[in-house]
Amino acid sequence: MLRLDNPMTEHIFLASGILDGLLSAGQRMSVSPSSVRAELLGKCLTRLDELRELARARFPSKAAFITTVVDEFEAGLRSLAGMCGGQITEDRRDGSGHCTVCGTAITHHPEYRLALCGKCDELFMPAYEKLCDFDGFGTEAI
Ligand SMILES: [Zn+2]
Repeated sequence: MLRLDNPMTEHIFLASGILDGLLSAGQRMSVSPSSVRAELLGKCLTRLDELRELARARFPSKAAFITTVVDEFEAGLRSLAGMCGGQITEDRRDGSGHCTVCGTAITHHPEYRLALCGKCDELFMPAYEKLCDFDGFGTEAI
């Protein structure tokens, strides 16, 4: 149950917004050419730093765990950006075909304007899920 009068609510909403953005960027990276991946990674690094700062400033009891998981998230996104030595030219953002890297069929939900490689996304999804969970920035605590 989310209580809007809880003083933590605004910080949890902020974290949740950043995490949503990182999830979208990661999913987009998994179907993009390397040049786009690099550009998205640059934006993600700024947002990851914001999460670390938010954890230290507003979630001190969880900050050690959160910053460790944010590091994992960053490592996953860096791997995604650097796949194939940065030589990927194929663009699967239209949701067609198979992943250039691993050959998995692209997951495509046009109704959500979503295209991703479910297998490549495993590089960052465990960290994303941990950060959304109770031990991360989850909402169950309030
Ligand atoms: Zn893949």
